[in-house]
Amino acid sequence: MVKLSLRELYLDELRDLYDAENRLVKALPKLAKEGKSQELRSGFEEHLEQTKGHVERLQEIFEAMGEKASGKRCAAMAGLIQEGGEMMGADFETGVKDAALISAAQRVEHYEIAAYGCVRTWAGLLGESEAQNLLQQTLNEEKETDEKLTELSEEINSDAMGGASGKTRMQDEVPRPRGKSRSAKA
Ligand code: FE
Ligand code: FE
Repeated sequence: MVKLSLRELYLDELRDLYDAENRLVKALPKLAKEGKSQELRSGFEEHLEQTKGHVERLQEIFEAMGEKASGKRCAAMAGLIQEGGEMMGADFETGVKDAALISAAQRVEHYEIAAYGCVRTWAGLLGESEAQNLLQQTLNEEKETDEKLTELSEEINSDAMGGASGKTRMQDEVPRPRGKSRSAKA
């Protein structure tokens, strides 16, 4: 049996990401509509525009490799989007739905961060420096999005705790060191 090379693994994972990003282009507008917080909605809309750029970067990489831009079903992203959709069908207290949206979105971002980190590194090893550069740019945007979601979660989780009383509880907490990205679930 023919064994797969690193280049073939790289191409395979790029196809997986291409499928994942295209699924997100379709799913993000639906998720954006579910948000109650204006800031959260515009965050989703902004990331939708970035995501279209992620699709284009992948197309550029396929083209430079002389490969057809085609996806390979990303079961993980299909599952994350399905879970997010199911969550949106639940009957939440005010504010809790936005907390759920952030949780769904951060799961997506973390998957993308892991995947782009790997293909970016392989691109470098394979001498594909232009691709490495493009993949790094996308990786940076995914990380920024994740951090923005964590920032938004502070107020949204506080609302989910029950408005004003939630806020007081948050302020009573021991201040945590700032600057490092934290998960919304922390
Ligand atoms: Fe993306
Ligand atoms: Fe993303």
